[in-house]
Amino acid sequence: MNGNKMRAAALYGKRDLRVAEADLPSINAGEILVQVKGAFVCGTDVRMFHNGYDGVSEAAPLILGHEGSGVVARIGRHVEYFKEGMRVAVAPNIGCGICDFCVSGNTHLCSQYKALGIHMPGFFAEYIKIPAGFVRQGNVVEIPDTLSFEEAALAEPLACVFNAFEKSKLRPGETVLIIGAGPIGLMHAKMAQTAGAEKIILNDLSRERLDLCRQLDSTFITVESDTLKEDIDSLTEGRGVDVCITACPAPQAQQVALELAAINGRVIFFGGLPPDKAHVSLNTNLIHYKQLEVTGTTRQSLSQYRRTLRLVACGRISIKDLISSRTALEEIQSALDNISQARSLKSAIYFE
Ligand SMILES: [Zn+2]
Ligand SMILES: [Zn+2]
Repeated sequence: MNGNKMRAAALYGKRDLRVAEADLPSINAGEILVQVKGAFVCGTDVRMFHNGYDGVSEAAPLILGHEGSGVVARIGRHVEYFKEGMRVAVAPNIGCGICDFCVSGNTHLCSQYKALGIHMPGFFAEYIKIPAGFVRQGNVVEIPDTLSFEEAALAEPLACVFNAFEKSKLRPGETVLIIGAGPIGLMHAKMAQTAGAEKIILNDLSRERLDLCRQLDSTFITVESDTLKEDIDSLTEGRGVDVCITACPAPQAQQVALELAAINGRVIFFGGLPPDKAHVSLNTNLIHYKQLEVTGTTRQSLSQYRRTLRLVACGRISIKDLISSRTALEEIQSALDNISQARSLKSAIYFE
């Protein structure tokens, strides 16, 4: 803390990210100030950088970053339970708190949904203010002793994956295909492992990425796109895969997922598509005759977020090996560039 100033990376508009001095947030009675210790760049940050974002402008810059953790630096006088010095992870999504989705625990589906680093200042700063609504809603979670700040920050994207995992109803002995072998695809693969999947197959356009998957875990099976259908056929003795997850923004992946799914298979559209590509022609007879369950998931509920933290803390799933680089806040632009060119898995941001 340098007086009332801190370093922060803020978006000012399309392709205009600046690392500069910002005012240290002041907190009111219900709020918490967190010193950021773990933060990750995500595809969402990259998209916001390349496309700009509604409401973000030269006059209204936004500090990015929605995957983060840190230490409680200050608490408002009405805040209970939390203490200065406590290590905390913060779920970034908040709902209105009173609609039926929020009341049922699905604040991430609220029509008034907002997120840190997307609609309000995020984690790419030395300090972040956690607004009172987040504190009251239960978004701030004490980090289990066994977890590092970085692992705790990575629980956010992993919790999105956990949401899809629950929908997939994956059972021991089943076969899973994940199309898109980036960091999120690998998280799906690791999650499938915890459920006792028999074969965990990853597909990607990039051969490099597939090599990386096998280096990370030699039990992962990788298949290239040119031979995808034949390979799935021989790996499953013609049955198809029980669960297929699309973890990439490609319409073709959704089409092929229906073809490769087994009878009674489950297909999860995890990765969203660019708006101009979202109308996809699907062979719905595949859904009909194979009795497929086709669904999508987005974000994560708070209970899924907390459960994911516990899952990592108990050692059932390890995500440390997904951290492929560490970049100082001042160099954050290079971390964004590496992700847009698919040159890294998860890129941690650190603060000197
Ligand atoms: Zn993210
Ligand atoms: Zn709501």
